[in-house]
Amino acid sequence: MTAMKLLTPGPVTTRPEVRAALGADFAPWDPDFAAILEDVQNRLLRIAGATACHTALAVQGCGHFAIEAALRSFLPPGGRILVPIVGPYAARMARLAREAGRVVVELPVGPAERAPPESIAAALAADPAISHVGVVYSETGSGIIHDAAAIGQVARASGRRVILDAVSAFGALPIDLAAQPEVDALLFTANKCLEGVPGIGFAIARTDRLEASAGHAGSWSFDLADAHANAVRGGPGYARFTPPAQVIAALRVALDLFDAEGGSAPRLTRYGANRDALIDGIRAIGLVPCLQPALQGPIVVNIAAPDDPAWNLQRFVDFMKGQGFVISNFYNTDRPSFRIGCIGALDPADLSEAARAMDLALDELGVRNRDPEFNNIAGVS
Ligand SMILES: *Cc1c(COP(=O)(O)O)cnc(C)c1O
Repeated sequence: MTAMKLLTPGPVTTRPEVRAALGADFAPWDPDFAAILEDVQNRLLRIAGATACHTALAVQGCGHFAIEAALRSFLPPGGRILVPIVGPYAARMARLAREAGRVVVELPVGPAERAPPESIAAALAADPAISHVGVVYSETGSGIIHDAAAIGQVARASGRRVILDAVSAFGALPIDLAAQPEVDALLFTANKCLEGVPGIGFAIARTDRLEASAGHAGSWSFDLADAHANAVRGGPGYARFTPPAQVIAALRVALDLFDAEGGSAPRLTRYGANRDALIDGIRAIGLVPCLQPALQGPIVVNIAAPDDPAWNLQRFVDFMKGQGFVISNFYNTDRPSFRIGCIGALDPADLSEAARAMDLALDELGVRNRDPEFNNIAGVS
């Protein structure tokens, strides 16, 4: 099978070296594996700008699991969290909190708007029982990057804590936990901007807050305070319950490649160049992005579906796959669109090639009208 390029905003295209690292077996309690996990944890702490007050906990599974673990561990049962609803991933955080028996205060935010820190400050002032703000840094549904530092500052100023979903941000967008002591937990996975394979998430949390959170979770599996207590007892690189050892070994190789690239800043530059190549490419074939340039982040681009009766998302996805590109077969915008991830082991030439593949796929579908002016009348761009 020829290697497919994943243009999904996670899981992402990985490099062959990363996939090759999956080829060795490890027993998780073997000191050889503990050294790998400890190294990965230390490197993640550095990327996060963490201090000696922080610890990195591996959470088996997907990003939702890590977010649920943080919500359960840091909010007591019945605790109140303000969640600015900036898109579908913020709505997911709200649902995870509600289903865990926490009280969610939703702050509506428009689909083409950055979460306004002043509205968050006002919502916090109006409801002193809110202990936390749930923040999505990069909203993967819309493609908008929110100002996590400014939101953290208003939370800090009013003595509240932050749960930060950085799942599609970590490894590319700037993060400095040393400057954001209000963050109880920073959550992310191996398989987005870190360019590893899926199977492991992480919570970087303050040790003092973990120690103060014992007994909150109401779930042994999702109890970060318990995971931390076990890690302290077990020593460096110890994981409570069986970790996906091969996945973690592959993440270490992905971190070697991350370092070789120069870290988060050059990676962000590459993703931004990917986005620019994509947008130039789609404009050249008559398509338009859903967001204004000022709001368009470097992680994912939603492209307005052509306003033509021949448009069919699933058939478009199939034609793209026939040309070696996997794209999502769903969309998150109000009006029909399709989404393209700019992250993963891709460079601008890949995104330009993807735009050429879209051109052929639209011809195969028999789409005639791709006119951006027409789309503009429909209020898309
Ligand atoms: C991908 C993602 C998640 C979690 O996704 P999983 O499918 O559970 O790994 C959460 N939040 C954001 C912003 C994401 O992009």
